Amino acid sequence: MRIVRYEHQTSRGYGLVEGDMIRPLAGPPFDGVRMSRGAAVPLADARLLAPCEPSKIVCIGRNYAAHAAEHHAPVPTEPLIFLKPPSALLAPGEAIELTPLSAQIEHEGELVVVIGRRCRHVPVEQAFDVIFGYTCGNDVTARDLQRKDGQWARAKGFDTFCPLGPWIETDLDPMHAAVTCLVNDVVRQQGTTADLIFSVAQLIAYVTQVMTLELGDIMMTGTPAGVGPLQAGDHVVVRISGIGELRNPVVSS
Ligand code: MG
Repeated sequence: MRIVRYEHQTSRGYGLVEGDMIRPLAGPPFDGVRMSRGAAVPLADARLLAPCEPSKIVCIGRNYAAHAAEHHAPVPTEPLIFLKPPSALLAPGEAIELTPLSAQIEHEGELVVVIGRRCRHVPVEQAFDVIFGYTCGNDVTARDLQRKDGQWARAKGFDTFCPLGPWIETDLDPMHAAVTCLVNDVVRQQGTTADLIFSVAQLIAYVTQVMTLELGDIMMTGTPAGVGPLQAGDHVVVRISGIGELRNPVVSS
């Protein structure tokens, strides 16, 4: 299934994508997909929103060895977790706003896990029971502020620094997804989740030792090598095989 959140005329909600149409759902899909009686709308006529409304955005740092190496950072011996605020979420097609507080704002294309069940202390072997699906994300980062601050809340937390979408794909093998990030149609990052240091299942187990995950919460699984700067006027695409493409322009604030 492909699940979107969308606006069309006066309606706003979750929908199921079938071909080039969206069939509206009666509510959030996480505890069961229920169709509403509303009319289907053409995908092309809808404005897509970020595909879920997480209470928190859990992120994993340095989860690809080649990306750790490009920052001369050691490969972590356990997952490195941090949070982005939900206020950073950005819909597909909307603009990433550069901030004058940073001179080095970079893209990080990532596979994103969407949680489908309230959970804590999930064993590795049951991790897939709590996953609803997967989407594309861009962990936009003010690299200079990340270095300067020592912790990452400011560098990762600006409004618009968490593009997400275009939809949630429920049928995906997260162990073998190709993750590509293009800027102005030039490939900057090209990786595969087969190279994750800590697998999706290991990450769910690790994170839920710390915090309860809620329906619709998301976990960004880390970025492959090739991160680089964004400039006003750029167009960024995060493409994940089996999901689709998340596209966002970049503007100055
Ligand atoms: Mg990242």
